[in-house]
Amino acid sequence: MIRTLRETCARLPDKRTGNNARYTMADIGMAAYSVFFMQSPSFLAHQRHLQEGPGHGRSNCETLFEMMGIPCDNHIRAMLDPVEPKLFFPVFDTAFEAMDECGGLEAFRQLGGHVLIALDGTEYFRSNDIRCGNCSRRARSGGKTEYFHTFLSATMVAPGHNRVVSLPPEFISPQDGSEKQDCESRAARRWLAGHGRHYAKLNPVYLGDDLFSRQPICEAVQAAGGHFLFVCKPASHKTLQEWLDGVDLPKRVVPIKRGKKRFTYTYRWIEAVPLRDGDDAMTVNWLEIAIADAAGEVTYRNSFVTDLPVNADNVVEIAAAGRARWKIENGSFNVLKTKGYNLEHNFGHGKDNLAAVLVTLNLLAFLFHTVAEFAEDRWRKALAIAGTRVAFFSKLRDITAFVLFPSWQVLFDTLTFKISLVVPP
Ligand SMILES: [Zn+2]
Repeated sequence: MIRTLRETCARLPDKRTGNNARYTMADIGMAAYSVFFMQSPSFLAHQRHLQEGPGHGRSNCETLFEMMGIPCDNHIRAMLDPVEPKLFFPVFDTAFEAMDECGGLEAFRQLGGHVLIALDGTEYFRSNDIRCGNCSRRARSGGKTEYFHTFLSATMVAPGHNRVVSLPPEFISPQDGSEKQDCESRAARRWLAGHGRHYAKLNPVYLGDDLFSRQPICEAVQAAGGHFLFVCKPASHKTLQEWLDGVDLPKRVVPIKRGKKRFTYTYRWIEAVPLRDGDDAMTVNWLEIAIADAAGEVTYRNSFVTDLPVNADNVVEIAAAGRARWKIENGSFNVLKTKGYNLEHNFGHGKDNLAAVLVTLNLLAFLFHTVAEFAEDRWRKALAIAGTRVAFFSKLRDITAFVLFPSWQVLFDTLTFKISLVVPP
């Protein structure tokens, strides 16, 4: 995967003219990436120390990331600013294939052979003064303008475990309009038009919040060869709600015991109801889950629309799949923002694309880590020894700051106590 990323970086457009380029685009791209992979803003600074001192001209940038030299931070930012983030998207496919080859996709198979892909927007930058040509803006009190960036994330999720697989993002840029709904909805349709066919072979079911359960997005999902399972709130689907009122819906009641507490899960569903008003309204299948505690008080209620058949046999599994949408909050955004990736940190904004390029590299680091966890014994062992992901990256960061490792193998043999480093007296 690292080789593919390096080759992709080597093909990035180079704005420099003449032959005075000291660092290649491959080194520039990999330098930026290595910071996210190691979750260490000072990784490059440490490697420069290693190279100039005990490494005798070599560093982990060379041995682990196949770099020939270590460019400075300002040079990296200047050279990556004009680069289109989409140039990195083929690397997501390479990682996805690696995930498939190691059998990792099996953990994501749901509903008899589908995978679940959650679509959701997230904001990763906000400022009152730093801005670029691709900033969205909104008015703040006192006549101030706030600048911000968001993207639509597409993430493979599954009920039952917290691992997620990032797919290429779709950046939401200002020309998409000023309404948040419009932006996210249009970005979703752009994503489906651009990537949907590629992932159609997975027989995907797309998950999304109430914003997505509108006819244009449902149609875009089907045009891309997928299925949908979107949250559908009564207040925003009045026509559908009117159809449900007064109908005696089929019901399935499932008692659940969690620890000492007892709950009652009640499922209701109906097939072939109109999604909206009008003659051209598409028909969808509707389902609802309500969870009541021992006293009979409903503590959770949610409803969905889908184009999958819904019946007494599969309603429980479909509702669980719909609720897996929340994994994008806990398993993806929360990890990206608070567990070492620092998605919202301003690593550099640039005038054009830098912010989006760095977020793309950060997502790729998250994806590579996930694939490594599925594919590599040594990675899993090192994680288990460290105890938590945060502790694992802390060890990785610290040990590579001071020791030059000839390969990933030796690094991970060290992290898993297979070999030990002995400094000669
Ligand atoms: Zn900006």
